[in-house]
Amino acid sequence: MDGTPTFESPTSAEPARSGLGVEALQRDIVDNLICLQARYPEIATPHDWYMALAYAVRDRMMTRRVATTHTYVARDAKVACYLSAEFLIGPQLGNNLINLGIENNAREALQALGLDLDELLSIEEEPGLGNGGLGRLAACYLDSLSTLEIPAIGYGIRYEFGIFDQEIRDGWQVEVTDKWLQKGNPWEILRPDVAFYVGFGGRTESTTDDEGRFRVRWIPAYTVKGVACDTPIPGFHVNTCNSLRLWKSEAVESFDLQDFNAGDYYEAVHEKVQSETLSKVLYPNDEPEAGKRLRLAQQYFFVSCSLQDMLRLLALKGEPIDRLPDMFTAQLNDTHPSIAVAELMRILVDERQVPWDDAWDITRRTLSYTNHTLLPEALETWGLPLFQGLLPRLIEIIYEINRRFLDDVRQRYPGDDARIARMSLIDESGAKRVRMAHLATVGSHAVNGVAALHSKLLEETVLRDFAELWPERFHNVTNGVTPRRFMMLSNPGLAKLLDDGLGEGWATDLSRLRELAEYADDAAFQARWRSVKQANKQILAAKIQSATGVVVDPAALFDIQVKRIHEYKRQHLNALYIVTQYMRLRREPQLPLAPRCFVFGGKAAPGYAMAKLIIRLINGIAEVVNDDPAINGRLKVVFFPDFNVKNAHFIYPAADLSEQISTAGKEASGTGNMKFMMNGALTIGTLDGANIEIREEVGDENFFLFGLSADEVERVKREGYRPAEYANANRKLREVLELIGSGHFSRGDREMFRPLVDNLLHHDPFLVLADYAAYVARQEDVSLAWRDVPRWTRMSILNTAYAGKFSSDRAIREYCEQIWNIRPVKISLERRS
Ligand SMILES: *Cc1c(COP(=O)(O)O)cnc(C)c1O
Repeated sequence: MDGTPTFESPTSAEPARSGLGVEALQRDIVDNLICLQARYPEIATPHDWYMALAYAVRDRMMTRRVATTHTYVARDAKVACYLSAEFLIGPQLGNNLINLGIENNAREALQALGLDLDELLSIEEEPGLGNGGLGRLAACYLDSLSTLEIPAIGYGIRYEFGIFDQEIRDGWQVEVTDKWLQKGNPWEILRPDVAFYVGFGGRTESTTDDEGRFRVRWIPAYTVKGVACDTPIPGFHVNTCNSLRLWKSEAVESFDLQDFNAGDYYEAVHEKVQSETLSKVLYPNDEPEAGKRLRLAQQYFFVSCSLQDMLRLLALKGEPIDRLPDMFTAQLNDTHPSIAVAELMRILVDERQVPWDDAWDITRRTLSYTNHTLLPEALETWGLPLFQGLLPRLIEIIYEINRRFLDDVRQRYPGDDARIARMSLIDESGAKRVRMAHLATVGSHAVNGVAALHSKLLEETVLRDFAELWPERFHNVTNGVTPRRFMMLSNPGLAKLLDDGLGEGWATDLSRLRELAEYADDAAFQARWRSVKQANKQILAAKIQSATGVVVDPAALFDIQVKRIHEYKRQHLNALYIVTQYMRLRREPQLPLAPRCFVFGGKAAPGYAMAKLIIRLINGIAEVVNDDPAINGRLKVVFFPDFNVKNAHFIYPAADLSEQISTAGKEASGTGNMKFMMNGALTIGTLDGANIEIREEVGDENFFLFGLSADEVERVKREGYRPAEYANANRKLREVLELIGSGHFSRGDREMFRPLVDNLLHHDPFLVLADYAAYVARQEDVSLAWRDVPRWTRMSILNTAYAGKFSSDRAIREYCEQIWNIRPVKISLERRS
């Protein structure tokens, strides 16, 4: 084939739009270029070809999507709905090709057209519809739900602007708007027929109906329309293709326009603009920022649309309303969608005239809640006036839920007023606030944390009274990540090695990685293992050079910390260690230190000054260390800009060492830690989140543990943490802090890092200095292990071997069994009329 378009009808046996063979794919790509892009091969840009290929892949998913919907309806299947304000799905093309099993055929079809698949893959814009771990978790769960053939819908918001792009200028983070939709999104299927109305503001009126029952009518001040935008989510090597359904806000067709005069016209347009603002932009904070009215409006908007959609589908199945919990289950990903408790009650009681007690039973049996944080500043609450102004009917319902709930608590614990105040849905200690975690807990049949330690602490701290009242409702489901994206797609060299060694099938039964342990000491296998890692490090080294100009040696130990920048994640502890090593090497230039390359990546919330200062510090250290002739390349420091899923693909597989150094008790689970482990990185880490389970799986001898435990952190804090004492007792640490304060890493500016040094020395809730000495000592063990190549390789192999538990398939199976009571439904492509 020479790639010139043919206008003849297809001659091959395979239909162009669904055939999986090379020839059918090639025809569809060219057809799409002409019919959808209005371009022809001679003038097509790489982006045109990317779109043509994406549409060809989408065509193949549509066959599956239709069969999937058809089967769910015909089989009366129960559906898992995953409600999340964020879905950090990452680029879709590569993952879809892998899941459909047509990566090689697509590569061949493109080759015949003179095109390179990898080049087209690199063109795809990242749909950055999330901040970090929480949004990425939702995306991994969608992949596993489809792969496990579970009927499922992801529900969220179609942000026009996702998480900002990060640039680094003069060492500082600069935020740039993310225009991911500018060149069109080939994966999105707009469904104007699936649209719902959502009211805001206004007032309520109570009446008595014909049968003498108390009724409330909500008269909103304005109404916004939500339109469904679907993204197909194919499972891996199965026919299941579920949907991610994201809601886009639109102005309601305004009858205001009918009798407008000039002034009203502008008012009407203003309202239209306001309505469209709702789904405009993702809030770029990893944890909620207090009091943003638009954020509460976003939450209510997507939750209301999603619940209305579930009820529409229930009716479509011909089921009565009280069957909702048998046909649907809705998981609340953190408190962001927790208004669902009150909204489902409102719909049932006000709109469907379901008696309160029945409605409450339906609501509780339908909903379940995943908690993601214990940090008090991150627990979502809303000031009463704001809430009442925006959602007047919902606050009444919350008060009624609370009244009935507290009556029950009073019966159970008579006279325990302190307990009542602690458990109330309304915090009345100061200005009144609605506690969203309490609302989610009271309105759910199951509550879970995201790692064993986190679930335990949840029951002992923030939800303690609730766990005491309803112990049977509390669960743990340790997070997981999808091995399709984070191994097969991002580490093809490793995938090939695993296919050769274990045979195919490991990616859907990740516990089979254990078989690798047999080869851990095999010299020939070790050599292949190292060459895969080496190739991945070369790729990252090239990316680093083009993104930052820094030249790094792929033979150095790649020591990587990528995640949102947060004081609790302690990137500054890592920075203190680098300065420690820098000072050692300056003092003893002959020291036989193995070269290390420290790579950082991650975005700081735009309003989080300390996080931004940590980025500046890392870049300041990089500036000094990388070019110091005395260091002679033995330390390299890189801040890789704009950490996102696309960049994650080549960062995790290139790591030798994974930095998981949060203050114990603060990182709920982490999922980055799992991605590193799967790709053969060793972890240096604290006893926090899923690190604990990673260490349990791989064994203490293959994990570099350091630092205070969660209990010890609490004890130190109780007894009064005096960080200056750690500095006074440790000359090295003192000198490191002095050097940072001296302007050495800030071009002579002694003021720049003062807030950071002051924080560490005087009021640091994250105990950086308390863990410093243990961290430095453990890093010495890392260096020692690194010098013993067979030992390090063995440890690396064993990390991958024991990563099986951390597949999101395992996590989704646990949700299905423990919480959702839902089973797979096989989709067949045969006999479609
Ligand atoms: C996995 C992932 C995260 C979460 O990383 P943690 O180390 O668990 O905080 C954040 N951002 C992206 C892009 C990821 O892929």
